[in-house]
Amino acid sequence: MTRRMRTKRQTPKRPVMTRSQVMSRVRDRDTKPEMRVRKALHAAGLRYRLQRKDLPGRPDIVLPSRKTVIFVHGCFWHRHPGCVRCRTPKTRQDFWIPKLEANVERDQKAAAALIEAGWKVRTIWECETERPSTIECFVAEVMATKKMTRKN
Ligand SMILES: [Zn+2]
Repeated sequence: MTRRMRTKRQTPKRPVMTRSQVMSRVRDRDTKPEMRVRKALHAAGLRYRLQRKDLPGRPDIVLPSRKTVIFVHGCFWHRHPGCVRCRTPKTRQDFWIPKLEANVERDQKAAAALIEAGWKVRTIWECETERPSTIECFVAEVMATKKMTRKN
């Protein structure tokens, strides 16, 4: 018994997710943060479409009636400024830094292309989706966006 306990103790205290586990989580289409946003939009009576592949950056949620796209960004992958989850890994920085910088650059380019095409671009961060009041504000802002009637 004591022996068994000792071997158990030797395992790492906190099983940290491996990078591939993190990645597979991120690749899940219906990630939790996105689901939270969708739920709140739906509850507010807003109708949306998901991942329009024809739009730059493949926005997570598209509200055609308000010409609005929503990105639900993971804090780590998309580098939420000032967020604790946005820490850069200490190991393999030559791999991570360019990769993460490329993500940010891709996001910026996609947003610019969308705005150029007349879309309103809104981003909500993963950590923000965990605060109900923040989601509420976010949804209220989206609702305040004018509905598209006809072309100006
Ligand atoms: Zn964050």
